[in-house]
Amino acid sequence: MRKQIAAANWKMNLTVSEAEKLTDDLLNTGFSLHPNQQVVLGVPFPYLINVEQRVSNKPNVFVAAQNCSDKSNGAYTGEVSVTMLKSIQVTYVIIGHSERREYNHEDNALLAAKVDIALANGIKPIFCCGEPLQIRESEQQNGYVETQLKESLFHLDAQAIKGFVIAYEPIWAIGTGRTASSEQAQQMHAHIRKVLAGKYGEEIAATISILYGGSVKAANAVEIFGQPDVDGGLVGGASLIASEFAAIINSLKK
Ligand code: PEP
Repeated sequence: MRKQIAAANWKMNLTVSEAEKLTDDLLNTGFSLHPNQQVVLGVPFPYLINVEQRVSNKPNVFVAAQNCSDKSNGAYTGEVSVTMLKSIQVTYVIIGHSERREYNHEDNALLAAKVDIALANGIKPIFCCGEPLQIRESEQQNGYVETQLKESLFHLDAQAIKGFVIAYEPIWAIGTGRTASSEQAQQMHAHIRKVLAGKYGEEIAATISILYGGSVKAANAVEIFGQPDVDGGLVGGASLIASEFAAIINSLKK
């Protein structure tokens, strides 16, 4: 059974004491996880160690960096390598979030290199894809997302993509309060799985967790996560409130 994941993306929010308190408050909510379910906290770089230390003895709770360099080390001022992340026991890294694609001009080829260096160092990518509003309005979203997957992931072999994590995040739904309907989410997730099956076969495609991101809240999580091809969510705003995110975690499919 593939993994069901509730992933938080704290983005550029919180001070260190706020990050520690949010982690403690979340752990104290007493959310429960089945063996195929995971919680992943996408933490700003300076607090990764603090949060990792707090969750390290919690089964199925992990930390993620929100980005990494495509280089392994060297004269790249301000960058953070996967080797550094590995040295502090970071498990996941979010790669290709739409905010990084937009503000940092990260393209599909660069993201392919980031995926490669993460996998080579044993850090699991959460690879983000998703279309802007004008692409959705012109009904070109399927081809747009397919190109993102092909150009950043399709160089991987079947072994590398097995159990991979993808987050589908329609850009028009991120931080806007405008959520894709559960039908729109399911339609795109099924399309992504079909594209993956076309390249790697149905068996491998069935192992890949596809998370939905875009204004997920406690109030809509059960319906969205209940769709057959939706394997949880990548959550921004609502992950900054412990009780809200705990309710989202408890909405994961068993
Ligand atoms: C995100 O940042 O990935 C996201 C989905 O944000 P929000 O939940 O706030 O829309």
